[in-house]
Amino acid sequence: MDKNVIPDKHRAAFLVNFKSPLEMGYTDTIMPEGDQVLIRVSGAGICHSDVHVWEGIWYKGGSPGKLPHIQSHEISGIVVSTGNSVPERIKPGDPVLVYPWQWLEDDRYTAAGLTNIPDRPVVPGINIHGGFQEYFPVSHYRYLINATGIEDLPALAPLSCGGLTTYRAVKKLGGKLKPDDYVAVVGLGGLGSYALQYLRLLFPQVNIIGADIRNDSIEFAEGICRMDGYINSSSGDINKMIMETTRGHGFRGVIDLVGRGTLPTYSRALAKEGIYVMVGLMGTGVQEPISPFFTVSMEKTIAGSYVGTLSEQHEVVDLARKGLINYIKPVSSRMDLEDASEGLKNLEDGKALGRQVVVF
Ligand SMILES: [Zn+2]
Repeated sequence: MDKNVIPDKHRAAFLVNFKSPLEMGYTDTIMPEGDQVLIRVSGAGICHSDVHVWEGIWYKGGSPGKLPHIQSHEISGIVVSTGNSVPERIKPGDPVLVYPWQWLEDDRYTAAGLTNIPDRPVVPGINIHGGFQEYFPVSHYRYLINATGIEDLPALAPLSCGGLTTYRAVKKLGGKLKPDDYVAVVGLGGLGSYALQYLRLLFPQVNIIGADIRNDSIEFAEGICRMDGYINSSSGDINKMIMETTRGHGFRGVIDLVGRGTLPTYSRALAKEGIYVMVGLMGTGVQEPISPFFTVSMEKTIAGSYVGTLSEQHEVVDLARKGLINYIKPVSSRMDLEDASEGLKNLEDGKALGRQVVVF
C-alpha cells in the first residue's frame, strides 16, 4: 500500500471504564521510525487474559498501564510501512503475525532464547496498546513472523497466544512419553483444540484423553482432532472415570489448561514419572494443594509453562503453513470491531466455544 493512503487517524476500540463496553473512537496513526513497522490489522483475537484486563483485576499489577487502553495481544496483519533501519526483506504487502511477548531490554533470559520470561516484559494489549485498532505500530521488526502461504490471515492471530502457549506446553512432555501412555488435555475450548493437535502431531504413539465439564466443548474439540477417549468431569466419580479411561494406568502427562480446581484431582491421577504441565490462568490468585509424598515417591514432575518463545512462534506458523495443524477450525466466531465487547462478555460468561477473532 502506498504510504500516502495511510490515514492520519484510524478507528480503535477503547477500554475506558472497567467491565463497561469498549468505546469506539479514533487514534493517531504512528508512522514507523528506525526498527519499527506499521501494519494494517487483519485479525485481533480475544483471549482470557483480555477478560482479566477488561475486568480491571490486573490493574494493580500494571495491566493496563493506563486508561483509555486498546486491548488484544493476538494480532495478524499486512505490513504497510517500515522504519529506515528495517531490513529490505520486510516490506509493505507482507502478511505477518505479531509475536506479542515482547521485552524492553535484552537480559540473560532473552539471550538464552527464553523470550517468554524476560525481566522486563511489555505486551501489546496487556501493558501497552494492542490490536483492537485498524493500524498497529510494531516496536521492532524482530517481532514479526512472515505469514506468506497462510490463506486465512485473521484466523492466524490466535496462534500468537492460544496456539503458541499450548505448543510450548505439549513440547514439555518430550522425552517422557512411551507408546500406549495416556495423556490428558484438561479444558477443551480453543486452547484444548490446539493442544490435542500438537499431541497428535508430536506424540502419535500415545492415547489422548480430553477432559471438560461441558459436552459442547468436548464435541467442539472432537470436531477438530480425534481423541482416544474423553471424560466429562461434571458428573460422577472423577477418579473412577480416570482409572477406567486409562485402564488403571493414570496419566503419564497432563496439560492443564484450566488451573482452577483441577490440580488436586489430575496431579493425583499422574502415573509414576508423570509430568503435569500447568498452563491455565483461570485461577489467578488460587492456591491448590498437591501431595509431597506422592510427588516424591512416584517421581512426578509438576511444571509451569508460560506462553512461548519467539523461536517457537516461528515453528507454530511453519506448522500452520505446512498444513500440519488446523488453525482455522479453533476459531469459533469472527466479529466486527464494534462487537469486541460482546466477545469479551461471551468469554467472561463461558459462552465462547473456541477462539474469537475481531476481523477488519
Ligand atoms: Zn492470551
